[in-house]
Amino acid sequence: MTPLTPQHDDADGPDSSWWRSAAACSGMPPQVVFARRERDAAPALQACARCPVLRRCEETVAPADSWFDGVSAGRLWRNGRPVTRHTSQHRGER
Ligand code: SF4
Repeated sequence: MTPLTPQHDDADGPDSSWWRSAAACSGMPPQVVFARRERDAAPALQACARCPVLRRCEETVAPADSWFDGVSAGRLWRNGRPVTRHTSQHRGER
């Protein structure tokens, strides 16, 4: 099954597109939204922080249930599991 994102149709009918156009990641290239690596997903992850439809995104994509790969609701997902963010502190770098 193809995961649903702001760049895909969902099953709620023709009035359901409002949230996709309101998404902060709207217009970003698929290789960013569906990135598998945190580095590639960074622009989308930053967009999530100011996204007005974060909850709708999470409900529609249902990343854990859909084995989603990409960015949804402020997290990068791989095979439906959230990817642990690697910050400079986690690596012991300053
Ligand atoms: S929460 Fe993130 S991935 Fe979902 S629509 Fe908003 S910006 Fe896009």
